[in-house]
Amino acid sequence: MANVEFKGVVKRYGDVEVIHGADLSIADGEFLVLVGPSGCGKSTLLRMVAGLESVTEGELRIGGQRVNDVHPRDRDVAMVFQSYALYPHMTVRDNMSFGLRVRKMPAAEIDQRVAEAAELMELGPLLERLPKQLSGGQRQRVAMGRAIVRRPQVFLFDEPLSNLDAALRARMRVELKKLHAELGTTMIYVTHDQVEAMTLADRIAVTHEGLLQQVGTPAELYDTPANVFVAGFIGAPQMNFLPGQAADGQVSGKGFALKTDRGTASGEVTVGIRPHDLSLADEEQASVLKAAVDVIEPLGWESHLHCTVGGEKVLAQVEAAEARSIRPGDAIRLMVGPDVIHLFDRKTELAL
Ligand code: ADP
Ligand code: MG
Repeated sequence: MANVEFKGVVKRYGDVEVIHGADLSIADGEFLVLVGPSGCGKSTLLRMVAGLESVTEGELRIGGQRVNDVHPRDRDVAMVFQSYALYPHMTVRDNMSFGLRVRKMPAAEIDQRVAEAAELMELGPLLERLPKQLSGGQRQRVAMGRAIVRRPQVFLFDEPLSNLDAALRARMRVELKKLHAELGTTMIYVTHDQVEAMTLADRIAVTHEGLLQQVGTPAELYDTPANVFVAGFIGAPQMNFLPGQAADGQVSGKGFALKTDRGTASGEVTVGIRPHDLSLADEEQASVLKAAVDVIEPLGWESHLHCTVGGEKVLAQVEAAEARSIRPGDAIRLMVGPDVIHLFDRKTELAL
């Protein structure tokens, strides 16, 4: 078990800087998810922890020890990749035990560790099979089993579920959460999928263009995003954004005038409203958005109203019963609680 610390970590490939000074402290036993769009530097951050990439500047510490110059083999971390990278000619058992045999661990100890990991990942009946005799999900479980037998200080996962279909991905998410609860080992998990991040993480670090944007619990990022990027990236369906002006506890723009609790905000702002925070306004309500309904998607207990407000696209998630009388082309009025309106400085995009 160990904590992991990035201190001013910079990564350059030749002249191109891809990580611009990362500071991040991951606690012992924490499940930290690095999330962000493709190419933002997630794998680079993880591979630096594994020792597969060098650190250009700054310091990386595992369990308090500076590891910048420590060989990957001596870091006591285990990495699970998107491609399972199993040895095709070896059985599941041999795939799992290979790393331990290379390290000359006594056979009895290897057998015990493989049995334990097999039990944990429910691989017992598959131990004598070859990888080609397994499904994708089973192969990924073997890849995880192979990491578990190492009993590393830190587990590193690089999009391990990306190759699985949606149903299996959801099941494996639950397994991973159980695994972390049982082992209690520090885990750093990379994904571009914000749902995976929200469901797995103790804390999430949102990354964009080589910069950590915000680090916090899933609830913190959802409720109080630090900037427009985090607000738009976390939460599905995506937050609505409208240009507006704020003054005296009011925010207004083309097609809307709303009361807001953020009374001190003033000037040019970007207004952020989550789709499920919108509902149909009653007659006497003055704080509203005037919306034209373009498309209605019924989804069982709720309906998605795709609207236009002052030329901007706005999605409202409302209860199906509420939306029953609404037709495409209708002009409707939407309301939102003053406490759930997000305001961002239009220029800096930072939360106000
Ligand atoms: P992510 O995992 O978030 O998709 P990566 O960490 O793989 O992103 O890549 C971050 C950036 O670094 C990308 O712009 C990518 O093109 C660049 N990059 C990654 N590996 C190399 C490399 N070996 N040489 C040059 N550029 C690289
Ligand atoms: Mg990657």
